[in-house]
Amino acid sequence: MAEEGRGDRVVDLLSLTRDELERLVRAWGAPRYRADQIWHWLYRQGAQDPQAMANLPATLRQRLAAETIVGGLEPLQQIDSEDGLTHKVLFGLADGAAIEAVLMHYGDEDEPGERHTVCVSSQVGCPIGCAFCATGQQGRRRDLTPGEISAQVLHFERTLRAAGAHVTNVVFMGMGEPLLNREAVWRAIRNLNDADGLRLGARRFTISTAGVVPGVLAMAAELHGVGLAVSLHAPDDALRDTLVPLNRRYPLKELLAACQQYVASTGRRVTMEYTLIDGVNDTDRHARRTAELLSGLMCHVNVIPLNPTAGCAYEPSPPARVARFAQGLQRAGVPVTIRQRRGVDVQAGCGQLCGQYVADVPR
Ligand code: SAH
Ligand code: SF4
Repeated sequence: MAEEGRGDRVVDLLSLTRDELERLVRAWGAPRYRADQIWHWLYRQGAQDPQAMANLPATLRQRLAAETIVGGLEPLQQIDSEDGLTHKVLFGLADGAAIEAVLMHYGDEDEPGERHTVCVSSQVGCPIGCAFCATGQQGRRRDLTPGEISAQVLHFERTLRAAGAHVTNVVFMGMGEPLLNREAVWRAIRNLNDADGLRLGARRFTISTAGVVPGVLAMAAELHGVGLAVSLHAPDDALRDTLVPLNRRYPLKELLAACQQYVASTGRRVTMEYTLIDGVNDTDRHARRTAELLSGLMCHVNVIPLNPTAGCAYEPSPPARVARFAQGLQRAGVPVTIRQRRGVDVQAGCGQLCGQYVADVPR
């Protein structure tokens, strides 16, 4: 759990499981219940500074301050969308890298204004290199630690709490491919799920993947309840190979079989994400073939017009095409929703996160 740049002895408390925290505290000669108190401070109170952990003895607080960190994220910039419903934060990491995470407020008829979803990053950059994604254009720099993932959620939990609200959902749809950083993602989910901490139910998490088949199978076996979203984007291998290069390694047949496995073991339906690109994957034929491909799988399709990214030659499908594509699926019996476009004015939409400072922020 060493953090670069902070010396080998620095432990990130948010990267530890509860058992590991207990072992650390006991190795320091403190009783086990001190670990419960620290856990409570970290995940219930959102404490970042050990000196604020008022019920710990001063010696323990000092040792924590000297030898541990809490996530190690430094918020560098926050940009709010004009409608006030989306907030994007750029975080600096201990090694000088940067990532972004996004908070989105949603309301519906049942829970007006009650859903507060954090979209977290799981890697710095992404190795998969989808042609239309700003993160993918950076290549993979490194995996995030569990603490760096949890710290994104806890940052927004602190800001929401000040307004009497809480994070209700976490989606792994920020920078990176979560199923290529499985161990850290699993650990962060389990820590945030813990009943003595933030208590975010397993069903409140969704992992979005470009189609890492072993990762989908591991979700089915190990992460019961966590939602699965698959970035489909094309109904045949030839087209998907060009849009999502990972398809060459895990073609559609294998991916769909893994999704069936997920449904069989969790009883949950899969969300299929389909980004509509003008003239590339958005014709009636594509809609028909997508419906054929998905027949027999318990799923629903989320269509979204492409968000613009620098250096990408593709154009979004026009609204009429988006509606027609969705109707095509619907008529063929595939449940479909057109995803609300969120935060595009502040480059916080799907595929727009690149971990860079934005000059001249609109106010
Ligand atoms: N790596 C994971 C999760 C992060 S991307 C994955 O690919 O699923 C989250 C979603 O945004 C994915 O469905 C991705 O395909 C989509 N996306 C990427 N670039 C986009 C863009 N420019 N416009 C719209 N959606 C995009
Ligand atoms: Fe990576 Fe997902 Fe972007 Fe593809 S869409 S490059 S998998 S982050």
